[in-house]
Amino acid sequence: MQGINIMATQRTLSIIKPDATRRNLTGQINAMFEGAGLRIIATRRLQLTQAQAEAFYAVHAERPFFKDLVSFMVSGPVVAQVLEGEDAVLKNREIMGATDPKKADAGTIRAAFAESIEANSVHGSDAPEAAAEEIGFFFAGIDITG
Ligand code: GDP
Repeated sequence: MQGINIMATQRTLSIIKPDATRRNLTGQINAMFEGAGLRIIATRRLQLTQAQAEAFYAVHAERPFFKDLVSFMVSGPVVAQVLEGEDAVLKNREIMGATDPKKADAGTIRAAFAESIEANSVHGSDAPEAAAEEIGFFFAGIDITG
């Protein structure tokens, strides 16, 4: 095909949150990523410690919901994953839907599965720079097999 392709293969960091692992939704959520053309090139199920959850969400430390968010994120296992594909950061945000499930478009993960604005089933990096940092938080280069 001719023309300038402004899309690029990217990587982004996804987390399937405790509300979703608790309800056994990992496979259904991963099917939505794969169905939209994102490849899961690294995956790791783990229980975050309080300190790890605080560090991951440090950018939100001053927000009124920070304490609740950290408590929620340590309430059960999470699945951290690297997703790869064309425009992966934005594409993953589209697949996830809006933070508040009441505002999420039909067909998105959060519209389908989120319980609340806090227990909203998935995290996704919001920019390529954040993605690189967040991938490094969970994975070493040797863990990622593009
Ligand atoms: P995201 O990028 O769509 O995940 O949204 P943000 O970066 O703004 O917020 C990070 C996470 O904090 C969200 O995914 C929610 O789990 C939680 N969160 C955001 N806003 C609120 C809020 O108003 N109340 C509560 N309790 N949690 C929130």
